[in-house]
Amino acid sequence: MREIAADLYLLGGKPRNFFNIYLMGDVLVDSGTRYAARRILREVGKAPPSALALTHGHADHQGSAHEVCTTLGIPLLCGAADRSAVESGDIRSLLPPHWSSAVSTKLWAGPGHPVEQVLRDGDEIGGFRVIDTPGHSPGHISFFRDEDRVLILGDVVFGLNLVTGRPGLRLPPDLFTPDPEMNRNSARAVAALEPSLVCFGHGRPVGTEEFVSFVETL
Ligand SMILES: [Zn+2]
Repeated sequence: MREIAADLYLLGGKPRNFFNIYLMGDVLVDSGTRYAARRILREVGKAPPSALALTHGHADHQGSAHEVCTTLGIPLLCGAADRSAVESGDIRSLLPPHWSSAVSTKLWAGPGHPVEQVLRDGDEIGGFRVIDTPGHSPGHISFFRDEDRVLILGDVVFGLNLVTGRPGLRLPPDLFTPDPEMNRNSARAVAALEPSLVCFGHGRPVGTEEFVSFVETL
């Protein structure tokens, strides 16, 4: 894993930057698809995190949550409105009804796991502050550190095209976003914080200028 800001690490993964997992202080953020558990456990083996926090409950973020939390004996946390889907493992309620979301769920989702605590706007975790950013899922959250304005955004904006692998900022596909207008409002709200570094669920981190100017086009 590599340090991308003070006390913030991006875990390795192939293809690079496709399904990002972060270590924020001593808290893991997201867990990739259900195939990611082994690499996560290998990378955090020497200094196990104290918790796993999900930006949201989609399959490519909750996939390895059960295996990682069970193996490491750590609690799982997520936004309130995603809780029941994350616990049951039936995440269809977090997606628009469409065959492609059913396919991605089948391919990538992992089993449900009890959520020990929900994260609410303003909560502090891993040295960051929780920000509600609903739209891409009902309980989507992001993490912001006021002292250096680093933002772990999740999937409010993508940093690459997941089909072609091409880098570049874009909105998440409407097919995977239950409320695109609410999601755009969430993007505007976090852009107003003028984050110094924006870390995505998909894609490489970018600076203020690239992110804010993209959001202005929405
Ligand atoms: Zn995602």
